[in-house]
Amino acid sequence: MSNKVVILGGGPGGYVAAIRLRQLGFETILIEKNRVGGVCLNVGCIPTKALYKSAEILNHASHLESFGLDFDGVVKPNAHKIRERKNQVVDTLVSGVEKLLSSAGVNVLYGEGKLLSSNSVTVNGEVIEFDNLIIATGSSSFIPPIVGVEHEGVVTSTELLDFESIPEELVIVGGGVIGMEFAGIFASFGSKVTVLEAMPNILPGIDGEIVKRLKPILKKKGIEIITSAMVQEISKDGQKLYVTMEGKKGPVVVSGDQVLVATGRRPNTQNLGLEEIGVEMNRKGIVVDEHFRTSQENIFAIGDVNGKWLLAHAASAQGEYVSEYLAGKKPKMGRFVPGCVFLFPEVASVGYTEEQLKEQDIAYHVSKFMLGANGKALTMGESEGLVKVISDEDFKIIGVHIMGVHASDLIHEGLLACEMGLSVDELKHVIHAHPTLAEAFYESVMGLKGEAVHMV
Ligand code: FAD
Repeated sequence: MSNKVVILGGGPGGYVAAIRLRQLGFETILIEKNRVGGVCLNVGCIPTKALYKSAEILNHASHLESFGLDFDGVVKPNAHKIRERKNQVVDTLVSGVEKLLSSAGVNVLYGEGKLLSSNSVTVNGEVIEFDNLIIATGSSSFIPPIVGVEHEGVVTSTELLDFESIPEELVIVGGGVIGMEFAGIFASFGSKVTVLEAMPNILPGIDGEIVKRLKPILKKKGIEIITSAMVQEISKDGQKLYVTMEGKKGPVVVSGDQVLVATGRRPNTQNLGLEEIGVEMNRKGIVVDEHFRTSQENIFAIGDVNGKWLLAHAASAQGEYVSEYLAGKKPKMGRFVPGCVFLFPEVASVGYTEEQLKEQDIAYHVSKFMLGANGKALTMGESEGLVKVISDEDFKIIGVHIMGVHASDLIHEGLLACEMGLSVDELKHVIHAHPTLAEAFYESVMGLKGEAVHMV
């Protein structure tokens, strides 16, 4: 067993690997050029969800009377205070990770690391030798070469998180998960939001039926979605920005006070010295095998930088996997990776979609339970949505797709069922507490064999 491991990048991939490696007895050096926690804690998952919570409370406040509550004042968003709260949540988590790293005995070096050879890196002028290296340098916003993208007011997700005021009109270029989450948050804050998506639909990879049911809800919230829209130019007149695109029926111009460019991510592979030492890369990032090993035997690449999944929990899982692999264990990587979209309502998904099964000509059963028939959802005043469960021909669960309140928590029962290869009969005698949202999952599973009691 090699015993000195250097990790480049302290995001959810890198810091998790560092701690796990120390638990396994390795000498571990983590090099981070900015703040530990990476994109996820600092400018990704956590700050967006802090904003999401402020938006959610504001949404509830807009219909207090439906819960029998009188309120004479006005609840309104305060950009400064929302930002401050978001920063506090981020700082708490970042300092928590710093403490975890220090108590695990990880040697954290702050600075930009660069490979010198396949056995050494340099940081702040110091040369460090290693037996193994884990590259976990993550990804950054991809900015397409659109004319006018350099205008002030055209921002990436990182900049929009530090909004000074709530834009009256916000144009979002890109209807993927990041673009749509910002759409939901800022529409709740009162911005008029227009999403421009080049593909025929938003949220690629999410079950088509869920997206179809979601779109009218978003529209009711004031989010305008224009699909098959190729943005061609952004111009500026005074404080207003104008986005010109080629729509289905010719050129269309949409105005905004700010334009968020959310057109994907690019792997952070530049200036790492990778070409010089012959680490193979492709368009998605660093090429790795099933053990996340690069073309250099002692160098691994995990998280966003290998382009496999652009999700924090996938980066962490890879970090744990590689640590255990280096320790000579036989780690297992989960077969299923759940994905969540924090909208109003939430969307969460794991396993096969109907579209994938049809495309691969795989026979399946499908069942849907509407949250409108779930007691807990009704008491919460959040009865919009459904739990859709897909099984194979033998009634083994292979996909779960949820739209509704707390979908991001509820999905884990579906994840467990998929990962463990559970069947309808195995889940049948699992008693679910009442009244809970989890009952909707149970009913949907039972519906696969026509045995759901609360389904018409
Ligand atoms: P990163 O988190 O990108 O960390 C890489 C680290 O490496 C950074 O700290 C960087 O400073 C450091 N680094 C880079 N180069 C060097 C160098 N040369 N030397 C030293 N250090 C270096 N995912 C989810 O699962 N759930 C979500 O809700 C979610 N929301 C998101 C919202 C937004 C707005 C964005 C942008 C992303 C979101 N993601 C979400 C994706 C998630 O943030 C990433 O998948 C995750 O952070 C990837 O982790 P990582 O460890 O691979 O890289």
